[in-house]
Formats: sequence, C-alpha cells, structure tokens
Amino acid sequence: MAHGLWAAAALVVACRHVAIKPAISRATVVASVVPDLFHSIPLVVWSAIAGRDGVALLREYAFSLPGHEPWIPEWVALASHHMHCAAHSAVVAAVLSLVAWLVAPTLMIVLLGWWSHIVIDLFTHSADFYPAPVLYPLSDHTIDGLAWNRPELLVANYLALTVVWWWIARTRTAHAPPSVVGTPGALKAPRQTWRQSP
Ligand SMILES: [Zn+2]
Repeated sequence: MAHGLWAAAALVVACRHVAIKPAISRATVVASVVPDLFHSIPLVVWSAIAGRDGVALLREYAFSLPGHEPWIPEWVALASHHMHCAAHSAVVAAVLSLVAWLVAPTLMIVLLGWWSHIVIDLFTHSADFYPAPVLYPLSDHTIDGLAWNRPELLVANYLALTVVWWWIARTRTAHAPPSVVGTPGALKAPRQTWRQSP
C-alpha cells in the first residue's frame, strides 16, 4: 500500500506544475503497486486448475516468511519466482520504457510508477527477504537493503507518509482544469491557479 501512497503523493505534487490526465494518474498509481502482484498469477492459475482455495493460498503465501511458503508445485514456484524477478527488474522496465517512448510516450508517465516501485524496493528489502533482482535476467545481483517490514522502519515509513500528506493538504490550492491534458504540450502548459476571493 505504501508504494501507491508515495506514487499518489508524487502525482498530486506533480499535478500542481504540469497537467496530467486523471486516467494517467490513476494508471501510474496502479503501476506502482502491480509489481508485487504479478508473481501471484501462477498461484491463481494453479489454484483454479487444482481446485484449491486461491484466496486462502494467496493470503498464506503473502504472510509467510521466505522458505516457509505453503507447498506449491515446482513449476508454479518457478513461474512465480521469475514473474517476481521480471516485475522488479530495471532491465525489463528499461525495455518497456523504450517501447513506450517509441509507441506511446504518455505511457512513460505510467511507467514512472513502476520505476518508483523498483527503486524503493531496491533499498527496502534485505538479502533474506525477497531482495529486488534489479538486473534480472542479466544477473541475479541484489542489494542487501533495510527490510521494510522491520517495525521501526514500518513506523518511519508511514510516519513520513503522514507528514507528506499533511503537507500536501496544508498547501493545497485550487487549480484550474488543464486545458490540454495527457499530451506533450500539456507538460509545457503554464501553471494556472484560482485565487479565492477574501
Ligand atoms: Zn515489490
């Protein structure tokens, strides 16, 4: 959830300076969260095939520590592992960003949400707690960062989020709807604000 809250905060601040389509903003927030969901796809598929309770399996899987996950067939574990690696890889994200830049540049804003997830995970996962393989598939190198699930870091993270959202609420001003949105020209549009009458 923190990934989405950080991405949303960044977008709210960005929207004070540039015009971004609401749909693009929403997609960017979703993109900041989905890297942690991809590896669930093989689990869901196998649950459906094997007639298992998929929701219970996902819940058990999500809250288990590395090495203590519920039993799943080897092919499911392998597929899940590679989907997790691909979703946390700067190499994969760079290829997708290049394709987006060539085909639909607006999608690069959405991919910034994905990039934010990779960068945050890179430094907030320890070597023994699902580290982000940032160079996958070229290398399995990871960084031994500070595990986000340590109580003091959890508190610090959500405290920082609280401060940021409090500041956003404090500095909120009404903005005129952007005249051109979601296009390169929109990024150059001058900032327009309303000032309420005293
Ligand atoms: Zn992640």
